[in-house]
Amino acid sequence: MNWHHQPVFSVRPPGKNYLEIMDAKPEPGPLSESSELLFSFGVIADIQYADLEDGYNFQGSRQRYYRHSLLHLQGAIEHWNKESSPPSCVLQLGDIIDGYNAQYQASEKSLELIMNTFQRLKVPVHHTWGNHEFYNFSRDYLTNSKLNTKLLEDQIAHHPETVPSENYYAYHFVPFPKFRFILLDAYDMSVLGVDPSSPKYQQCLKILREHNPNVELNSPQGLAEPQFVQFNGGFSQEQLNWLNEVLTFSDKNQEKVVIVSHLPIYPEASDSVCLAWNYRDALAVIWSHKCVVCFFAGHTHDGGYSEDPFGVHHVNIEGVIETAPDSQAFGTVHVYPDKMVLKGRGRVPDRIMNYKKEKAFHF
Ligand SMILES: [Zn+2]
Repeated sequence: MNWHHQPVFSVRPPGKNYLEIMDAKPEPGPLSESSELLFSFGVIADIQYADLEDGYNFQGSRQRYYRHSLLHLQGAIEHWNKESSPPSCVLQLGDIIDGYNAQYQASEKSLELIMNTFQRLKVPVHHTWGNHEFYNFSRDYLTNSKLNTKLLEDQIAHHPETVPSENYYAYHFVPFPKFRFILLDAYDMSVLGVDPSSPKYQQCLKILREHNPNVELNSPQGLAEPQFVQFNGGFSQEQLNWLNEVLTFSDKNQEKVVIVSHLPIYPEASDSVCLAWNYRDALAVIWSHKCVVCFFAGHTHDGGYSEDPFGVHHVNIEGVIETAPDSQAFGTVHVYPDKMVLKGRGRVPDRIMNYKKEKAFHF
Protein backbone atom coordinates (compact mmCIF):
# COMPACT_ATOMS: atom_id res chain seq x y z
CA MET A 1 0.00 0.00 0.00
CA ASN A 2 1.03 3.48 -0.53
CA TRP A 3 0.82 5.44 2.66
CA HIS A 4 1.14 8.91 1.39
CA HIS A 5 -2.39 10.34 1.84
CA GLN A 6 -2.19 12.29 0.22
CA PRO A 7 -1.00 39.01 -8.51
CA VAL A 8 1.71 38.98 -10.80
CA PHE A 9 4.59 40.83 -9.19
CA SER A 10 6.37 43.72 -10.69
CA VAL A 11 9.90 44.03 -9.39
CA ARG A 12 10.41 47.21 -11.39
CA PRO A 13 8.58 50.48 -10.94
CA PRO A 14 5.81 50.70 -13.49
CA GLY A 15 5.76 52.83 -16.58
CA LYS A 16 8.38 55.38 -17.48
CA ASN A 17 10.36 54.92 -20.60
CA TYR A 18 13.85 56.26 -21.11
CA LEU A 19 12.79 59.65 -22.57
CA GLU A 20 10.42 60.34 -19.73
CA ILE A 21 13.16 59.60 -17.26
CA MET A 22 15.49 61.97 -19.13
CA ASP A 23 12.97 64.77 -18.72
CA ALA A 24 11.86 64.03 -15.24
CA LYS A 25 13.24 65.43 -12.04
CA PRO A 26 14.98 62.88 -9.87
CA GLU A 27 12.32 60.94 -8.06
CA PRO A 28 12.71 59.78 -4.50
CA GLY A 29 13.61 56.17 -4.63
CA PRO A 30 11.36 53.97 -6.75
CA LEU A 31 14.56 52.11 -7.54
CA SER A 32 15.51 51.93 -3.90
CA GLU A 33 17.73 49.13 -2.66
CA SER A 34 14.63 47.16 -1.70
CA SER A 35 14.05 46.37 -5.38
CA GLU A 36 17.50 44.88 -5.87
CA LEU A 37 17.46 41.14 -6.54
CA LEU A 38 20.09 39.53 -4.32
CA PHE A 39 19.82 35.91 -5.40
CA SER A 40 17.21 33.24 -6.06
CA PHE A 41 16.65 29.55 -5.37
CA GLY A 42 14.43 26.82 -6.76
CA VAL A 43 11.91 24.67 -4.87
CA ILE A 44 10.33 21.34 -5.85
CA ALA A 45 8.54 18.70 -3.78
CA ASP A 46 7.25 15.13 -3.82
CA ILE A 47 8.40 13.98 -7.25
CA GLN A 48 7.63 10.38 -6.19
CA TYR A 49 8.73 8.89 -9.48
CA ALA A 50 7.94 5.26 -10.31
CA ASP A 51 7.80 3.43 -13.61
CA LEU A 52 4.11 2.72 -13.14
CA GLU A 53 0.81 3.55 -14.75
CA ASP A 54 -1.06 6.48 -13.25
CA GLY A 55 -2.74 5.67 -9.96
CA TYR A 56 -4.56 7.35 -7.12
CA ASN A 57 -3.74 8.47 -3.59
CA PHE A 58 -4.77 6.34 -0.63
CA GLN A 59 -8.24 7.91 -0.42
CA GLY A 60 -8.70 7.53 -4.16
CA SER A 61 -9.40 11.25 -4.51
CA ARG A 62 -6.31 12.46 -6.37
CA GLN A 63 -4.66 11.10 -9.46
CA ARG A 64 -0.95 10.31 -9.32
CA TYR A 65 1.19 10.55 -12.43
CA TYR A 66 4.07 8.23 -11.51
CA ARG A 67 5.86 8.23 -14.87
CA HIS A 68 5.12 11.78 -15.82
CA SER A 69 6.74 13.08 -12.64
CA LEU A 70 10.12 12.50 -14.34
CA LEU A 71 9.05 14.74 -17.24
CA HIS A 72 7.87 17.37 -14.76
CA LEU A 73 11.31 17.27 -13.14
CA GLN A 74 13.02 17.58 -16.53
CA GLY A 75 10.83 20.59 -17.35
CA ALA A 76 11.69 22.26 -14.04
CA ILE A 77 15.42 21.71 -14.56
CA GLU A 78 15.29 23.09 -18.10
CA HIS A 79 13.46 26.13 -16.78
CA TRP A 80 15.98 26.76 -13.97
CA ASN A 81 18.91 26.30 -16.36
CA LYS A 82 17.45 28.91 -18.71
CA GLU A 83 16.43 31.54 -16.16
CA SER A 84 17.98 34.94 -16.84
CA SER A 85 19.33 35.10 -13.32
CA PRO A 86 19.85 31.41 -12.54
CA PRO A 87 19.00 30.19 -9.05
CA SER A 88 21.98 29.72 -6.75
CA CYS A 89 20.63 26.32 -5.69
CA VAL A 90 17.52 24.14 -5.71
CA LEU A 91 15.79 22.72 -2.64
CA GLN A 92 14.32 19.25 -3.22
CA LEU A 93 11.81 18.82 -0.42
CA GLY A 94 11.73 15.02 -0.20
CA ASP A 95 9.87 11.93 -1.46
CA ILE A 96 11.96 11.90 -4.62
CA ILE A 97 10.85 8.38 -5.66
CA ASP A 98 7.67 6.56 -4.67
CA GLY A 99 7.47 3.78 -2.09
CA TYR A 100 6.02 1.49 -4.78
CA ASN A 101 9.55 1.13 -6.17
CA ALA A 102 10.49 -1.05 -3.20
CA GLN A 103 7.65 -3.44 -4.01
CA TYR A 104 8.97 -3.85 -7.56
CA GLN A 105 12.65 -4.01 -6.56
CA ALA A 106 13.09 -0.86 -8.63
CA SER A 107 14.32 1.53 -5.91
CA GLU A 108 17.93 1.82 -7.05
CA LYS A 109 17.06 1.98 -10.74
CA SER A 110 14.45 4.71 -10.22
CA LEU A 111 16.75 6.71 -7.97
CA GLU A 112 19.52 6.50 -10.55
CA LEU A 113 17.18 7.74 -13.27
CA ILE A 114 16.11 10.70 -11.16
CA MET A 115 19.65 11.53 -10.05
CA ASN A 116 20.88 11.39 -13.66
CA THR A 117 18.16 13.89 -14.50
CA PHE A 118 19.26 16.15 -11.62
CA GLN A 119 22.81 16.06 -13.03
CA ARG A 120 21.60 18.26 -15.89
CA LEU A 121 20.88 21.00 -13.37
CA LYS A 122 23.67 23.57 -13.52
CA VAL A 123 23.42 24.54 -9.86
CA PRO A 124 23.66 22.50 -6.64
CA VAL A 125 20.59 20.71 -5.31
CA HIS A 126 19.97 20.10 -1.62
CA HIS A 127 18.04 16.90 -0.95
CA THR A 128 15.63 16.50 1.97
CA TRP A 129 14.54 13.04 3.14
CA GLY A 130 10.85 12.11 3.43
CA ASN A 131 8.86 8.99 4.27
CA HIS A 132 9.20 7.61 0.74
CA GLU A 133 12.99 7.71 1.02
CA PHE A 134 12.64 5.34 3.99
CA TYR A 135 10.12 3.08 2.22
CA ASN A 136 12.86 2.50 -0.37
CA PHE A 137 16.13 2.71 1.53
CA SER A 138 17.69 2.32 4.95
CA ARG A 139 19.15 5.38 6.64
CA ASP A 140 22.63 3.94 6.14
CA TYR A 141 22.00 3.55 2.44
CA LEU A 142 20.75 7.14 2.16
CA THR A 143 23.76 8.43 4.12
CA ASN A 144 26.06 6.86 1.54
CA SER A 145 23.95 7.86 -1.46
CA LYS A 146 23.78 10.95 -3.67
CA LEU A 147 20.70 11.96 -1.69
CA ASN A 148 23.08 12.93 1.11
CA THR A 149 24.04 16.50 0.23
CA LYS A 150 25.60 17.29 3.58
CA LEU A 151 28.88 17.88 1.74
CA LEU A 152 27.32 21.18 0.66
CA GLU A 153 27.15 22.40 4.26
CA ASP A 154 28.91 25.52 5.48
CA GLN A 155 30.75 25.65 8.77
CA ILE A 156 30.74 28.56 11.18
CA ALA A 157 34.29 29.08 12.39
CA HIS A 158 34.84 28.95 16.16
CA HIS A 159 31.23 27.88 16.83
CA PRO A 160 31.35 24.11 17.37
CA GLU A 161 27.83 24.23 18.82
CA THR A 162 26.53 24.91 15.28
CA VAL A 163 27.97 21.65 13.89
CA PRO A 164 25.18 19.06 13.54
CA SER A 165 25.52 15.61 15.06
CA GLU A 166 25.72 12.50 12.86
CA ASN A 167 22.61 11.16 14.60
CA TYR A 168 20.29 13.01 12.21
CA TYR A 169 20.51 14.31 8.64
CA ALA A 170 20.59 18.07 8.96
CA TYR A 171 22.94 20.90 8.05
CA HIS A 172 23.09 24.58 7.23
CA PHE A 173 24.57 26.54 4.35
CA VAL A 174 24.91 30.11 3.15
CA PRO A 175 23.93 30.60 -0.51
CA PHE A 176 24.39 34.38 -0.22
CA PRO A 177 26.02 36.50 2.50
CA LYS A 178 23.72 37.00 5.51
CA PHE A 179 21.21 34.37 4.30
CA ARG A 180 21.45 30.99 6.03
CA PHE A 181 19.45 27.93 4.98
CA ILE A 182 18.86 25.10 7.45
CA LEU A 183 17.84 21.66 6.25
CA LEU A 184 16.06 19.65 8.97
CA ASP A 185 15.51 15.92 9.44
CA ALA A 186 11.79 15.44 10.14
CA TYR A 187 12.29 11.65 10.47
CA ASP A 188 14.90 11.95 13.19
CA MET A 189 12.25 10.55 15.56
CA SER A 190 10.22 8.00 13.61
CA VAL A 191 9.69 4.31 13.17
CA LEU A 192 10.74 4.85 9.54
CA GLY A 193 14.46 4.79 8.86
CA VAL A 194 15.39 3.77 12.38
CA ASP A 195 16.96 0.37 13.02
CA PRO A 196 14.16 -1.75 14.58
CA SER A 197 16.65 -3.36 16.97
CA SER A 198 17.75 0.01 18.38
CA PRO A 199 16.58 1.64 21.64
CA LYS A 200 15.66 4.73 19.58
CA TYR A 201 13.19 2.66 17.56
CA GLN A 202 11.56 1.39 20.77
CA GLN A 203 11.36 4.95 22.06
CA CYS A 204 9.78 6.19 18.80
CA LEU A 205 7.31 3.30 18.67
CA LYS A 206 6.33 4.03 22.28
CA ILE A 207 5.69 7.71 21.46
CA LEU A 208 3.65 6.73 18.39
CA ARG A 209 1.58 4.15 20.29
CA GLU A 210 0.95 6.53 23.20
CA HIS A 211 -0.68 8.94 20.77
CA ASN A 212 -2.18 6.45 18.34
CA PRO A 213 -4.14 3.47 19.73
CA ASN A 214 -5.13 2.29 16.23
CA VAL A 215 -3.99 -1.18 15.19
CA GLU A 216 -3.06 0.35 11.86
CA LEU A 217 -0.50 2.97 12.87
CA ASN A 218 -0.84 4.74 9.52
CA SER A 219 -4.45 5.57 10.36
CA PRO A 220 -5.24 8.92 12.00
CA GLN A 221 -8.80 7.81 12.73
CA GLY A 222 -10.10 9.18 16.01
CA LEU A 223 -6.84 10.83 17.01
CA ALA A 224 -6.79 14.03 19.04
CA GLU A 225 -3.44 14.73 17.41
CA PRO A 226 -3.77 13.28 13.90
CA GLN A 227 -0.09 13.87 13.06
CA PHE A 228 0.84 10.84 15.19
CA VAL A 229 0.83 8.36 12.33
CA GLN A 230 3.56 6.08 11.07
CA PHE A 231 4.19 8.00 7.84
CA ASN A 232 5.25 11.05 9.88
CA GLY A 233 8.08 11.65 12.30
CA GLY A 234 9.56 14.35 14.44
CA PHE A 235 12.65 16.17 15.65
CA SER A 236 14.81 14.87 18.49
CA GLN A 237 15.67 17.20 21.35
CA GLU A 238 19.27 16.92 20.19
CA GLN A 239 18.38 18.25 16.74
CA LEU A 240 16.19 21.02 18.21
CA ASN A 241 19.05 22.07 20.52
CA TRP A 242 21.34 22.27 17.49
CA LEU A 243 18.72 24.27 15.57
CA ASN A 244 18.50 26.62 18.55
CA GLU A 245 22.28 27.15 18.49
CA VAL A 246 22.34 27.90 14.76
CA LEU A 247 19.44 30.36 15.10
CA THR A 248 21.19 32.02 18.06
CA PHE A 249 24.25 32.56 15.87
CA SER A 250 22.09 33.82 12.98
CA ASP A 251 20.32 36.31 15.26
CA LYS A 252 23.64 37.68 16.49
CA ASN A 253 25.05 37.79 12.96
CA GLN A 254 21.88 39.56 11.70
CA GLU A 255 21.12 36.87 9.15
CA LYS A 256 17.85 35.89 7.49
CA VAL A 257 17.10 32.18 7.78
CA VAL A 258 15.17 29.81 5.52
CA ILE A 259 14.30 26.40 7.00
CA VAL A 260 13.62 23.34 4.85
CA SER A 261 11.94 20.13 6.06
CA HIS A 262 9.92 17.37 4.41
CA LEU A 263 7.20 17.72 7.05
CA PRO A 264 5.40 21.01 7.70
CA ILE A 265 5.15 22.39 11.24
CA TYR A 266 2.42 25.03 11.14
CA PRO A 267 -1.20 23.81 11.38
CA GLU A 268 -2.69 26.80 9.54
CA ALA A 269 -0.63 25.94 6.46
CA SER A 270 -1.18 22.19 6.43
CA ASP A 271 -3.61 19.37 6.83
CA SER A 272 -3.13 18.35 10.49
CA VAL A 273 -2.45 14.73 9.49
CA CYS A 274 0.69 15.85 7.64
CA LEU A 275 2.42 17.75 10.46
CA ALA A 276 5.61 16.67 12.21
CA TRP A 277 4.83 14.80 15.43
CA ASN A 278 6.30 17.49 17.71
CA TYR A 279 5.71 20.47 15.44
CA ARG A 280 5.03 22.61 18.54
CA ASP A 281 8.58 22.04 19.82
CA ALA A 282 10.02 23.15 16.48
CA LEU A 283 7.78 26.23 16.42
CA ALA A 284 8.82 27.11 19.99
CA VAL A 285 12.49 27.11 18.97
CA ILE A 286 11.85 29.16 15.82
CA TRP A 287 9.60 31.63 17.64
CA SER A 288 12.29 32.30 20.24
CA HIS A 289 14.47 33.84 17.50
CA LYS A 290 13.94 36.71 15.12
CA CYS A 291 15.98 35.48 12.14
CA VAL A 292 13.64 32.96 10.50
CA VAL A 293 11.85 34.28 7.40
CA CYS A 294 10.25 31.19 5.95
CA PHE A 295 9.80 27.47 6.37
CA PHE A 296 9.47 25.33 3.24
CA ALA A 297 7.96 21.85 3.38
CA GLY A 298 6.54 19.21 1.07
CA HIS A 299 4.57 16.05 2.00
CA THR A 300 1.05 17.53 1.72
CA HIS A 301 0.81 17.41 -2.11
CA ASP A 302 -2.01 20.00 -1.98
CA GLY A 303 0.30 22.82 -0.97
CA GLY A 304 -0.52 25.45 1.61
CA TYR A 305 0.57 28.74 3.04
CA SER A 306 0.22 30.79 6.21
CA GLU A 307 2.15 33.54 7.95
CA ASP A 308 2.35 32.75 11.65
CA PRO A 309 1.92 35.37 14.42
CA PHE A 310 5.69 35.79 14.60
CA GLY A 311 5.96 36.70 10.93
CA VAL A 312 7.38 33.39 9.73
CA HIS A 313 6.01 32.38 6.32
CA HIS A 314 5.12 28.68 6.14
CA VAL A 315 5.02 27.42 2.55
CA ASN A 316 4.07 23.88 1.55
CA ILE A 317 4.98 23.29 -2.06
CA GLU A 318 2.46 21.41 -4.23
CA GLY A 319 3.61 17.89 -5.02
CA VAL A 320 4.85 16.99 -8.50
CA ILE A 321 3.30 13.51 -8.25
CA GLU A 322 -0.28 14.84 -8.23
CA THR A 323 0.33 17.33 -11.04
CA ALA A 324 -1.35 16.64 -14.38
CA PRO A 325 0.87 16.41 -17.48
CA ASP A 326 -0.48 19.70 -18.83
CA SER A 327 0.49 21.59 -15.67
CA GLN A 328 3.66 22.07 -13.59
CA ALA A 329 4.68 22.16 -9.91
CA PHE A 330 7.85 23.99 -8.95
CA GLY A 331 8.91 27.51 -8.20
CA THR A 332 11.74 30.00 -7.97
CA VAL A 333 12.10 32.21 -4.91
CA HIS A 334 13.60 35.63 -5.63
CA VAL A 335 15.30 37.15 -2.60
CA TYR A 336 15.31 40.93 -2.04
CA PRO A 337 16.63 43.01 0.86
CA ASP A 338 13.09 43.33 2.29
CA LYS A 339 11.23 40.24 1.07
CA MET A 340 11.24 36.92 -0.70
CA VAL A 341 8.99 36.48 -3.72
CA LEU A 342 7.95 32.98 -4.75
CA LYS A 343 7.28 32.81 -8.46
CA GLY A 344 5.30 29.61 -8.80
CA ARG A 345 4.82 27.57 -11.95
CA GLY A 346 1.66 25.65 -12.75
CA ARG A 347 -0.03 24.56 -9.51
CA VAL A 348 2.37 26.51 -7.31
CA PRO A 349 0.95 29.98 -6.64
CA ASP A 350 2.98 33.19 -6.43
CA ARG A 351 3.61 34.53 -2.93
CA ILE A 352 5.16 37.68 -1.50
CA MET A 353 6.86 37.05 1.82
CA ASN A 354 7.85 40.29 3.51
CA TYR A 355 10.39 40.13 6.30
CA LYS A 356 8.94 40.77 9.71
CA LYS A 357 9.20 44.17 11.30
CA GLU A 358 11.62 44.40 14.21
CA LYS A 359 8.91 45.86 16.44
CA ALA A 360 7.02 42.60 16.30
CA PHE A 361 9.58 41.15 18.70
CA HIS A 362 9.24 43.69 21.46
CA PHE A 363 6.64 41.66 23.31
ZN1 LIG B 1 5.94 12.59 2.38
